Amino acid sequence: MGRMDDSLASELADLEARGLRRSMLAIERAGGTHVTLAGRRCVNFSSNDYLNLSDHPRVRSAASRALDLCGLGSPSSRMISGNLGVHEALEEMIGAWKRRRIVLFPTGYMANIGLLDSIADRGDAIYSDELNHESIIDGCRISRASTFKYPHRDAIALDRMMAEGGPYRRRIIVTDAVFSMDGDVAPLAELRDVADRRGAWLVADEAHSTGVLGATGRGIEEEFGLEGALDASVGTLGKALGGAGGYVAGSATLVDLLRNKARTFVYTTALPPPLCAGLFEAFAILTENPGMAAQVREKARLLRGMLSARGIAALPGDTPILPVVAGASAAAVECAARLRSEGYLVAGIRPPTVPEGSARLRISVNLGHTREEMEGLASALAKALPPRNR
Ligand SMILES: *Cc1c(COP(=O)(O)O)cnc(C)c1O
Repeated sequence: MGRMDDSLASELADLEARGLRRSMLAIERAGGTHVTLAGRRCVNFSSNDYLNLSDHPRVRSAASRALDLCGLGSPSSRMISGNLGVHEALEEMIGAWKRRRIVLFPTGYMANIGLLDSIADRGDAIYSDELNHESIIDGCRISRASTFKYPHRDAIALDRMMAEGGPYRRRIIVTDAVFSMDGDVAPLAELRDVADRRGAWLVADEAHSTGVLGATGRGIEEEFGLEGALDASVGTLGKALGGAGGYVAGSATLVDLLRNKARTFVYTTALPPPLCAGLFEAFAILTENPGMAAQVREKARLLRGMLSARGIAALPGDTPILPVVAGASAAAVECAARLRSEGYLVAGIRPPTVPEGSARLRISVNLGHTREEMEGLASALAKALPPRNR
């Protein structure tokens, strides 16, 4: 069989040869709007901290007060001795905001896995948008349900697929609300129609819609004026809320079931109290300032206009995620490196995160970005992109 490292090294060499080997930047000071990289301050256009809450003074002081009061961790699962007041208060807070019952998970990734594994099993069918996040794909696999990918945002094709096959005990449609690498939005009304017609449940992953879509940032249902269209939704606390963690929002029955059954809830340590306290404050800020979501999207529209004035077409959409396709992996990586040398941090996204041949620069806009910083990025990108992409 050979030594472990010999075998693994050949896999790494293969990634290298295909231009897909990844490495991490050493960030010295993180933040939604600016980061320090190799001693240099860069404007961060690659963070998911859309509302710039990770660094908010109120969030910081709430977290540090909780650290003094409770210490770093509650080193047990919620079910054993880790269920503190901060966890229940945070669930109440999110629940009041989402108008659903909430169960926290350690991450959004684990929330997707815990939800899908708990509600689907062998003999069930999950219909999943072909561009859904990897954590949904893993949740489908772990559930053992028969899984069918439907063409991106195509409710008609989905309906046709659901007319065939079966019988299944349960049928579940699952979609990203905002697609993480494309920045477009799921067609909620059309998906709900298909779900009703075919007797299916509809689940959305609101990782990039929470705090972003809807007049007050409550997500995709608010965006389309379709409260209650989702049977369940998954959220992350690591993006617009600026911390880390995840949750499932749904009925009291669903939440009760997940607390009993979701392996990624039962068999893992509760979220650290300082994190919960900081997140509670982040939700309080968002509740007091309901216009934040609309402001960040306005900012993204402004940047979209600046790009198009320079002949750069971001993929269509109306969210703070502006993807600019570079094509080959090497082109995206080189362009991102050129932007870094100009002081702009933009993520170069390669396969398998995105389909082959569609490597891209994924620009994400944050409430803290100034007009000058956005103009600067647009100009630097116009110079850094290979000419055929403009
Ligand atoms: C980031 C992301 C997740 C994972 O959330 P984490 O809290 O970072 O684990 C899940 N789904 C989508 C669509 C995401 O973009």
